[in-house]
Amino acid sequence: MVEPTPMPAPATVAGVAPLPGASGLLAGGPVPWPAASVLAPSLSPSRAGDFMTCPLLYRFRAIDRIPEKPSKAAVRGTLVHRVLEELFDLPADERTLPAAAAMVPAAWDSVRSQDEISEADLFEDANEAQAWLTSAIPLLEAYFRLEDPRTLEPADRELRVETTLDGGLVLRGFIDRVDRNAAGEIRVVDYKTGKAPREGYEQKSLFQMRFYALVLWRITGTLPRVLQLLYLGSEDTIRYTPTEADLLATERKVIALWAAIERAHESGDWRPSPSRLCDWCDHKVRCPSFGGTPPPLPGRETTPGPISG
Ligand code: SF4
Repeated sequence: MVEPTPMPAPATVAGVAPLPGASGLLAGGPVPWPAASVLAPSLSPSRAGDFMTCPLLYRFRAIDRIPEKPSKAAVRGTLVHRVLEELFDLPADERTLPAAAAMVPAAWDSVRSQDEISEADLFEDANEAQAWLTSAIPLLEAYFRLEDPRTLEPADRELRVETTLDGGLVLRGFIDRVDRNAAGEIRVVDYKTGKAPREGYEQKSLFQMRFYALVLWRITGTLPRVLQLLYLGSEDTIRYTPTEADLLATERKVIALWAAIERAHESGDWRPSPSRLCDWCDHKVRCPSFGGTPPPLPGRETTPGPISG
């Protein structure tokens, strides 16, 4: 692995720009689509994951762009990402757990205002809001048990990355943290506030990391040395060393995925793919698998093609 030794002075990966204040929740999050009837050739890891999980979910999020009610867990994830991003603004020796905990209220104010979140929509009362805010602390405690931020000097945080593959497909996303050691080796770090997947179920998370590694590789010409996932919910770390063959396979996969998305767009056949994840889906009410009817596709008067359960 890349040693967690002090890193050289912060630097920005060529061709990519950090977006100050961008939230971790947005990593690979919604991307702008110029017009509903025109399918812009672009993918983020989140949208790619949506299509692999359920094509209809992808449609609701990326084509219809139907707003979703943020969950408390998702918003807490954004909050913790914000604290971990801003923690590295402090001098190295001040990056302690008490300092991180003290940053929580201000980070919550900032997330609330940036994402236009109303406490009244999330919580029953002030007591519940306070208990929820306090529930961020164990995740920060877990972070400090996984690594010591005083020994790190990230090259970038909340890094917006984007590259265009041959053929015009744009890949984009936000990377939580990029570390670069004295030898110039790159480590891509992603924070997860949930628990690590069971053995054998890591592929979804690793796809996201390989996606970021592919984008960085295409931008910089340097193969990231380590992909590292920090699961704060279970205090687990998953490290993976990508090979050129891995990233070429990832590139083929995203190109094939995009071809499937284009086919669905042309036919209007965005099939639901029910799974246990439906329990957390905001779109059940309009999903044929649960007796609902999707709205007409934007830019089309009726929904062409079959949408079956
Ligand atoms: S409820 Fe399930 S099947 Fe329906 S859109 Fe959501 S994830 Fe897909």
